[in-house]
Amino acid sequence: MEHEMAEETIFSKIIRKEIPADILYQDDLVTAFRDINPRAPSHILIIPNKLLPTVNDVEAEDEAMMGRLFTVARKLAEKEGIAEDGYRLIVNCNPHGGQEVYHLHMHLLGGRPLGPMLI
Ligand code: 5GP
Repeated sequence: MEHEMAEETIFSKIIRKEIPADILYQDDLVTAFRDINPRAPSHILIIPNKLLPTVNDVEAEDEAMMGRLFTVARKLAEKEGIAEDGYRLIVNCNPHGGQEVYHLHMHLLGGRPLGPMLI
C-alpha cells in the first residue's frame, strides 16, 4: 500500500492534544502515550510527530526521528521499572503485519513475561 497523500489518524489529534491521551513524553520529534487497550502492565506507544503511515514510508531524512523512538523507548522502560527484567518493542506494518492505525508507531510492552515471539 502506498500513501502519496497520507491521511491523518486519531494519533495526530493525540499529538496536538485535541483528544485526551495519557501522554508520558513529548518533544520536537516524537510523542509517547499509554495504549488505550493495554496488552501488558506497561503498554506504551511511541510515535513520530510527523505523519508517516507505515515503515514503508520511512526515508533517510527520517533517521534521527526513527532513532529517537528507540532512545525514548529505553528511557520510558527505565521509568516504568521494566528495563532490567526486559520488554518488547514492536512495529507492525500493513495488514499482514497486523497494523490497525496508519500512523507509524512503536509498541513498548513489558511488566510481565511476554513469552517467546510466536510469529
Ligand atoms: P497497531 O495494531 O496499529 O500496531 O496498534 C494500534 C494500537 O493503537 C492498538 O494497540 C490500539 O489499542 C491503540 N489505539 C487505537 N486507538 C487509540 C486511541 O485512541 N488512543 C490510544 N491511547 N491508543 C489507541
